[in-house]
Amino acid sequence: MEFSSKLLEKAVNEMAQLPGIGKRTALRLVLHLLKQPEEQTQYLSNALLNMRKDIKFCKKCHNISDTDVCDICANSTRNPKIICVVEDVRDVMAIENTNQFKGLYHVLGGKISPIEGIGPSQLTIASLVEKVKSGDIEEVIFALSSTIEGDTTNFYIYKQIKEVDVKTSTIARGIAVGDELEYADEVTLGRSIVHRVPFENALKNN
Ligand SMILES: [Zn+2]
Repeated sequence: MEFSSKLLEKAVNEMAQLPGIGKRTALRLVLHLLKQPEEQTQYLSNALLNMRKDIKFCKKCHNISDTDVCDICANSTRNPKIICVVEDVRDVMAIENTNQFKGLYHVLGGKISPIEGIGPSQLTIASLVEKVKSGDIEEVIFALSSTIEGDTTNFYIYKQIKEVDVKTSTIARGIAVGDELEYADEVTLGRSIVHRVPFENALKNN
């Protein structure tokens, strides 16, 4: 791509670093911003900078939050004895949208993936195990996507907590293998949380 301006080229190259954005799309977005009033670009840059600078991770569940403890963990009407283990904030949003879950979450920050070089220590597994071993938890629900990485992660955690007197379950799979939670429709996802099955049963099926 030949650019008539170094400034334009730089902006396009930065935009094209984002996932799913090729150079052509990046150029289209940048040209769109150029046509808008300058403030529009200002709002966009400020929103991104402030998000990056001020965002926090909840001390309890590791969900993305504006405060030290997120709104879900701080909500006294929720049941703190039931913990739903998810990969990231998108899964929390998807499950919250179903209105079927009134416990708390634990956000792992990813899945164990040797191919991508992600090991257990890069995830928040240790703090989850600690939480469960504290004895205040009655049930741990695994709600990771049913991919090899998801299953590996579930099993890794399960092995560490199976000696503790805690119920472990997994969301019932109306969701096709490989589907990410965020793409499952609300009704299906809601149903699969309500009809969750003991984790041991899921192990036998594999
Ligand atoms: Zn939280």
